Amino acid sequence: MKRPPIVVIMGSVDHGKTTLLDYIRKANVAAKEAGGITQAVGAYEIERDGQKITFIDTPGHEAFFKIKARGAQIADIAILVVAADDSVQPQTKEALKIIQQSETAFIVAINKIDRVPNADKVKNELMQAGVLLEGYGGNISYQLISAKTGQGVDELLDLILLAAELEHFDYDPNHHASGFVLEAKLDSRRGVLATLIITDGTLKTGDEIAAGSAKGKVKILENFLGKRADVLTPSAPAVVFGFESLPKAGDKFHVGKPEEIQILTAEARGKKALPLVLAAEGRVNLILKADATGSLDALSQVIKNLPKKEKQSIEIIDESVGDIGDNDVKMAASTKAMIIGFKASATKAAETLARSQNVKIIESEIIYDLVKAIEEALDSLDKLVVKGKLEILATFGRKGGQQIIGGKVTEGVISNNAVLDIERKGEVAGSGKIVNLQQAKKDARSVAAGKECGLMFDSEMEIKVGDVLVGH
Ligand code: GDP
Repeated sequence: MKRPPIVVIMGSVDHGKTTLLDYIRKANVAAKEAGGITQAVGAYEIERDGQKITFIDTPGHEAFFKIKARGAQIADIAILVVAADDSVQPQTKEALKIIQQSETAFIVAINKIDRVPNADKVKNELMQAGVLLEGYGGNISYQLISAKTGQGVDELLDLILLAAELEHFDYDPNHHASGFVLEAKLDSRRGVLATLIITDGTLKTGDEIAAGSAKGKVKILENFLGKRADVLTPSAPAVVFGFESLPKAGDKFHVGKPEEIQILTAEARGKKALPLVLAAEGRVNLILKADATGSLDALSQVIKNLPKKEKQSIEIIDESVGDIGDNDVKMAASTKAMIIGFKASATKAAETLARSQNVKIIESEIIYDLVKAIEEALDSLDKLVVKGKLEILATFGRKGGQQIIGGKVTEGVISNNAVLDIERKGEVAGSGKIVNLQQAKKDARSVAAGKECGLMFDSEMEIKVGDVLVGH
């Protein structure tokens, strides 16, 4: 089935990208639909003559386009904005280079036409920069517009629809949904909020979902206006609540389980999986498993040669060929080790036991991924402890030892990666570690007294509202 085009607007600073995006949104998304307020989720969808277009409206959205240059399919069509009262700028040329390298269809919008009598100067400059415009010996469509008055904007939308018609963007409604992550934030009331752009399949409430090493379940699905939806199809922006950790902007997402690395008990890679005891000892203990002696040797060699910083050490407790069995898990539990499976997977019994014993198992067919997980575990040894007090105001569920919570710093400073005591009713009842810290929905290194924050906390103990997290 045909899917609407996904459009990104590029060009030099001050040439009118934001004004154009705002104009298109205001002119085409009815205010009553938006409830008067449009929430900023990084993308919006419009309808013109019964046909939809998705616009990416993320600050720094050009960065997304660069990702496409690296191979991920993001925008289908680019609009290159050039101000008629200025000239082709280095940033215009840079944008053009990215568009051309990624072989993306593009349309030129010559903006601020309300300010100049004609666009000849800028047209000439475009031709000199190798943009051969239609009617001037080339075939690149262009439109004269004023993002301020709206002149020519409808015609620009028609050109986008025409380009989409020629390019044939398709999807299969029977596929599991896939696409990419546009943004991810911690919402202090509802947990992880991810904006996705669906490019194939049908996304439904209840779907299991994965993006990079983040996974979860679509608990709440909303369209870009913040309205509940049961299903969404391409190329709609989708707001999803239910990821257990923050997915990375630009990552591909798909419905189903994470590929490559399958992490059984930890909800993310080694860093978050590291038992706290090990962090204190400054050592990462490992149990290696592989499908054959050749791969086991390779894995163990690579691990032994890993560069380590001061005070970091890795100990291989045991290594053997075969599936990861419950004996391996028992050994890991008693030695506080992580199990690394290279082309070796855990039996059902081992999985269950690992879950109950909070033993981390990391499996992959790719050595590099395993090494990365171990490196992250090593890095997390450099824990950052800063004094501070955080009062818990809300909790958002917990899985595999990780929990999303919202709170307010009441004293001092709370820093990301800090190891904190959990105080309940005035007594220390446990401890845990901050694995992600956000203030005003943005990643934060630290949050000071008086401010609210959202965080992902790794602990064996379940945090409750009213608990206080205290730095050492
Ligand atoms: P961006 O940096 O590319 O996002 O550019 P902005 O959208 O922020 O626009 C830069 C300035 O140009 C702002 O002051 C806008 O009001 C102004 N501007 C944008 N489009 C037009 C236009 O079509 N006509 C006029 N006269 N001004 C415009």
